[in-house]
Amino acid sequence: MKLKSSVSRRGFLGGAATAGAGLCLGLTKASAAAEKPAAATAKRAAKSATEWPVWETNDEKGLLDVLHSGKWGRGNGSRVKEFENAYAALTGAKFCLATSSGTGALLTALGALDIGPGDEVILPPYTFVATFNAITHHYALPVFVDTDPATFQIDPKKVPAAITAATKLILPVHIGGSPCDVDAIVEAARPRKLPVLEDACQAWSAQVRGANVGTRGLAGCFSFQASKNLTAGEGGALITNDEKFLDRCVAFHSPSGGKGIVTSGRGGNYRLTEFQAAVLLAQLARFEQQQKLREANANYLTSLLEKIPGIAPARFGNGGTRSAWHLYMFHYDKRQFANLPRAKFLEALAKEGIAASHGYTPLNTSAHVKALAENPHYQRIYGQQAMARWVDRNQCPVNDRLCEEAAWFPQTKLLGSRRDMERIAEVIASVQKRAGELAKA
Ligand SMILES: *Cc1c(COP(=O)(O)O)cnc(C)c1O
Repeated sequence: MKLKSSVSRRGFLGGAATAGAGLCLGLTKASAAAEKPAAATAKRAAKSATEWPVWETNDEKGLLDVLHSGKWGRGNGSRVKEFENAYAALTGAKFCLATSSGTGALLTALGALDIGPGDEVILPPYTFVATFNAITHHYALPVFVDTDPATFQIDPKKVPAAITAATKLILPVHIGGSPCDVDAIVEAARPRKLPVLEDACQAWSAQVRGANVGTRGLAGCFSFQASKNLTAGEGGALITNDEKFLDRCVAFHSPSGGKGIVTSGRGGNYRLTEFQAAVLLAQLARFEQQQKLREANANYLTSLLEKIPGIAPARFGNGGTRSAWHLYMFHYDKRQFANLPRAKFLEALAKEGIAASHGYTPLNTSAHVKALAENPHYQRIYGQQAMARWVDRNQCPVNDRLCEEAAWFPQTKLLGSRRDMERIAEVIASVQKRAGELAKA
């Protein structure tokens, strides 16, 4: 997957989806030559170490076992349950509910909380658009709280001022898999007894004060979409220690799984399939080893990049003890690079085979977000003038600056060797040396 400096997050995901499609074709071929699965595996192993996703005969066998069993849905199969138990064990949560996607997990949690029209939900602007969509899907009003540039995460100091009488939920994100200061947010939520839902869709097994993210607030939501560190193409999960909340989530996520629990006349179908669970169980078997490799490489890369003036890796939020390393996020200060614009910096890296993304563009002022003010349902619920004022209020100046100077490497880069990390640092240092020329070119 090649990332050009000009590609947006959408393009980035498109690239990931294309890579996934290519591997599906590989799988079809491997299945057709079922007598020789070892040959197909060997052929794959010969490819790049950072190719994504990784799969082997285990994944293939899991899928075929489900196919042959005829038990394809969670109602009659056992693999979804097995995965939920394994994921709860991995995260140290009491309960896990698997869902059809990370978005499905968020929609389920907001549905179980009965978030709806008139309710405000606090979120950061430095996130994937799905966080925002989960709120607007329930016709609630998203309220942006600016970013702490050192961590790239929601600034917990700015949360109290955003809480109003209409606030019903705080939805912080552990962006990049790096832990945000969720404990400070839980503290800010306490006086009003507001629930805190962690969007941990990039943060499988990230930790705050030694405990997994998703267990600090009411619940945490995770994604297993194709680009994510743990994937079945699509899929998601919600973890919680609150059994009553779990029961409401189970009821909301399935038209027929509710133990008679009433969820305000609303619900959906956000169930994971047995096929996805089979793949996730196979992926889970290699997940911790991959995470250890990402972590070791990320720490080594940080030690190298910290020596380069103008490159500042993102720090963990207060209390953060482990990142999931979905994104390796850093600041690029062009003043230390002879004012070489970020786009040209990224171009120069790409030329050396070190593809990096410029990261998120400001979500809070995007066309997608602004369109909400023109949405007739929102105008009816909140009023046309209130929606116009909402657009004016969605200012996050710190985040705007961060979006201009941020860059990321995707998680797959961290699956390379130590030598690969050294090469990243060497290429950046050489670009810095040539920055004057490159700026003129
Ligand atoms: C991927 C992601 C989601 C949505 O997950 P899907 O499985 O793609 O629906 C939500 N929030 C964040 C921060 C994500 O990265």
